[in-house]
Amino acid sequence: MAKIRVGVNGFGTIGKRVAAAVTLQDDMELVGVTKTRPSFEAQSAIARGYGLYVPAENVQAFADAGIKVSGTIDDLIKSVDIMVDCTPGNVGEEYKAKYQAAGVKAIFQGGEDHALTGISFNSTANYSESWGAQLSRVVSCNTTGLLRTLNPLDKKFKINNAFVTIVRRAADPGDSKNGPINGLEPSVKLPTHHGPDVQSIMPWLNINTMAVKASTTLMHLHTVVVQLGCETTTEEVLEVFKNAPRVRLVSSKDGIKTTAQVMELARELGRDRSDMYEIIVWKDGVKVVGNTLYYYQAVHQESDVIPENIDCIRSMCKLEQDGAASQAKTNRSMGIPQ
Ligand code: NAD
Repeated sequence: MAKIRVGVNGFGTIGKRVAAAVTLQDDMELVGVTKTRPSFEAQSAIARGYGLYVPAENVQAFADAGIKVSGTIDDLIKSVDIMVDCTPGNVGEEYKAKYQAAGVKAIFQGGEDHALTGISFNSTANYSESWGAQLSRVVSCNTTGLLRTLNPLDKKFKINNAFVTIVRRAADPGDSKNGPINGLEPSVKLPTHHGPDVQSIMPWLNINTMAVKASTTLMHLHTVVVQLGCETTTEEVLEVFKNAPRVRLVSSKDGIKTTAQVMELARELGRDRSDMYEIIVWKDGVKVVGNTLYYYQAVHQESDVIPENIDCIRSMCKLEQDGAASQAKTNRSMGIPQ
């Protein structure tokens, strides 16, 4: 069977990781990535052997910088079966019309609204909803993190309601423009958008969220309180998390006390770009009292959505009907434990 031809629009934090993950799949081929301006990242794309596509009006600027391009962004759109749009939030709208005019499928990211595509994606919770779709949206890093743990809990115990406080990283590690670099910034518009974003995939879930931006770049941290539909035990909940796809249990007793040690673990695992694709749950921080469950989880914002994008391609391009089989294939290729 011919490989699905994939293009990645926007070679930033998410785009560069999606491109690398596509090259690891035996049922996909990376045709190329886009960059708007000549930069070290454009050179890095070339060094990795990726086709580089740029806006028509900037072709000369790339030539002047000595960077050889393969064509324009419009050329790339015409050469693929599916585009993974990793441009900054709210830029997707402008490209949606181009993808549709060219008759290619497109995946957008969590910075876009659900309304842009009408379908949102999470590998565990709703793989089949994007089956054969022209457009879909992989939800944000925080929403992906919440779905990875709340969906299996809801399946096992039925959730009455969930309340989450999200301690957000202020900026990604390579971003020196955003902050705060000193201070904690509460999101005062309440509840925050994260709950409704989870509901774009689990509309029945009663969930409310608050968020605080913190002076860190490594990861987000969630404190989660869940009222379950029945009484259970800490051990039973740990069993659910142990079997939940792309969830990794860690313990403070092993020295993983903060997100800094989680990132050190990712380096020890030798992951590409030191990424931690799994959602981290502290097993000694899980506690059940009656039907109330408390836990902490950490989200590596730069990478948890990457395997989801690969599964989303498989669902939209009808490469694998069984979501669990797609996840297993993606996990094998990226070194994620089953
Ligand atoms: P980024 O700023 O790191 O990368 C965006 C890339 O798009 C850059 O290379 C930029 O040059 C390029 N770009 C900008 N305008 C463009 C245009 N008009 N045409 C083509 N390329 C253009 O952003 P990111 O963090 O990778 O975020 C991309 C999407 O992923 C957003 O929707 C964001 O909300 C979502 N997301 C981000 C994170 C995160 O923590 N970084 C996590 C999950 C999802």
